[in-house]
Amino acid sequence: MLIFKRIAELQSYLSYKKECGTSIGFVPTMGALHEGHLSLLRQSKKENQLSVCSIFVNPTQFNEKKDLKSYPRMFARDIRLLAEMKNDVVFMPEEEEIYPQNPYKVNTFEFGELDKVMEGEFRPGHFEGVANVVARLLDIVQPHRLYMGQKDYQQVAIVRAMLKQISSRTELVMCPTMREKDGLAMSSRNMKLTERHRQAAPLIYQGLTKARQMTENSSVQKIKELFFKLLDVPDLSPEYFEIVDGDSLLSVKDLSENNFVVACTAVWAGDVRLIDNMILKKIDV
Ligand code: AMP
Repeated sequence: MLIFKRIAELQSYLSYKKECGTSIGFVPTMGALHEGHLSLLRQSKKENQLSVCSIFVNPTQFNEKKDLKSYPRMFARDIRLLAEMKNDVVFMPEEEEIYPQNPYKVNTFEFGELDKVMEGEFRPGHFEGVANVVARLLDIVQPHRLYMGQKDYQQVAIVRAMLKQISSRTELVMCPTMREKDGLAMSSRNMKLTERHRQAAPLIYQGLTKARQMTENSSVQKIKELFFKLLDVPDLSPEYFEIVDGDSLLSVKDLSENNFVVACTAVWAGDVRLIDNMILKKIDV
């Protein structure tokens, strides 16, 4: 496995590979890797001749300094995990490499409602940071395919819109959410949970599953009520639970009138903010 810290060296290696006709898959991460990240890499390895995984804790997507500071960093372990699964290339740039100018020069993208709702409402500036760092990393790696997790459903929608705006030829592949045995979506943030909060956290998955079961014969209102009731426990505090159109992310009013419906939620478990989602209905027409 090759590890690059510098853009120029990574690019010269990749351009040689591309000249040889090698297809390249790219998995951007912020490290503290878990099975969710590794599943994206496995998919990339299946579909490409060479896979690049980046590890970069992107400061511009954190809307709280405290969250950035306490974000888990375990680079030696990450590298070991990647080497064990025979990943090809790791890109681990320093902050100055990604953002040479200070203050950071920000590209403005137009996301309409996509970045105003849900995470956009509660984490101002977050998606601007995400879109910018993904655009920057794509410009550096120029992969054929980009792999992202459904776990961050709204992020995938934002990146899809960003790719369209920059007329990118990179194909975006959304991979399923990997979960712990009890249903909790894997996340680097899970390791910050106290035992009590960890025990309560699977209720999020249970609530989403219940929502999916109710979709056929119930209303948005009833599903929302049930979700909040189920999560009404001392160790969890839901920030939002929305039932939205899978493309526009706008609130769905009538489940029977929509073919593609997703439930998205953010829940505080103590100091840790967990997000999750579930596709409630998808009918291809
Ligand atoms: P992060 O390191 O949190 O920025 O995540 C890097 C990539 O891994 C993103 O595309 C995430 O959506 C994806 N990811 C994170 N957790 C999971 C999971 N449990 N299952 C699948 N993909 C995930």
